[in-house]
Amino acid sequence: MTAPVTRHDWKPAEVLTLLRQPFNDLLFQAQTVHRQHFDANRVQVSTLLSIKTGACPEDCKYCPQSGHYNTGLDKEKLLEVQKVLDEAAAAKAIGATRFCMGAAWKHPSDKDMPYVLQMVRGVRELGLETCMTLGKLTKEQTAALADAGLDYYNHNLDTSPEFYGNIITTRTYSDRLQTLSYVRDAGMKICSGGILGMGESLEDRAGLLIQLANLPEHPESVPINMLVKVAGTPLENVEDIDPFDFIRMLAVARIMMPRSHVRLSAGREQMNEQTQALAFFAGANSIFYGDRLLTTSNPQAEKDMRLFDRLGIKPEERQEHDDEVHQAAIEQALVEQRDSQMFTNAAAV
Ligand code: SF4
Repeated sequence: MTAPVTRHDWKPAEVLTLLRQPFNDLLFQAQTVHRQHFDANRVQVSTLLSIKTGACPEDCKYCPQSGHYNTGLDKEKLLEVQKVLDEAAAAKAIGATRFCMGAAWKHPSDKDMPYVLQMVRGVRELGLETCMTLGKLTKEQTAALADAGLDYYNHNLDTSPEFYGNIITTRTYSDRLQTLSYVRDAGMKICSGGILGMGESLEDRAGLLIQLANLPEHPESVPINMLVKVAGTPLENVEDIDPFDFIRMLAVARIMMPRSHVRLSAGREQMNEQTQALAFFAGANSIFYGDRLLTTSNPQAEKDMRLFDRLGIKPEERQEHDDEVHQAAIEQALVEQRDSQMFTNAAAV
């Protein structure tokens, strides 16, 4: 069978047709595409640490960290660099290959950037891939993160452009696309996906996937989250998404972005093991161990590993080759940026 062409011109009608087809046909198609690009029995494992929690000025209606809602969450300042590195070492010890650090910010401040960069360098030195989610970035901040060796930047599109205004009013969709474009231009990899079960329509779900798949390059990592309803947020009583509809979205993401890691992300704790197994069959090949990683033992991680064992799944190894290619891309982007700055400066003289 020939490998499907990687496309960037998806239209709503064809995505809706994919989403609506009989479940077994869709899963067969997704699994077929998956096997053309990945070892079907490997799943990449990332861990996530909140490096700055709560009091976020954004008003994302799903998020307990937003300062707009009273969810009883304890707020924390930016964690100390050493504490982050200790957590990263613990993550590596339990098999994670990527360490994701998230801060509840509208954007990073100049005051915080030096610490953030130290975290990136330190986690990289531990031999882990690095990922950060810090909100909107300037071009300069993006370049500094790339220079420090950040592998991935996470910035989710969340939902379709049409539904977006129902969920967030403090940041625009085009701001998000701009940040993603800075990240790509700086040579870093993109992690971007969305959240399902916020009251969006099937058309909105298709619209989200179209935005992601029609980017000039597909995000390397596509987290598909199931809404975790938190008391105190405006979405606490929204209707649950049908788990089969959730699996359908994973399958269509796999078909539309055949080379991307599709991540079964937030909401996994509420899913039973059968649903998770179905998600892997639909083409999901990345998971989070979850927040609040413990330094001694991690019951969630142990449960995940038992499920992997029962399904014959092995955690994906970190790919050194990819690492070299990625490093070369960053170096190339830095050279191009310096050249263009020299050109701009020269033109201004
Ligand atoms: S920007 Fe991030 S941390 Fe802030 S409210 Fe939105 S999702 Fe939550």
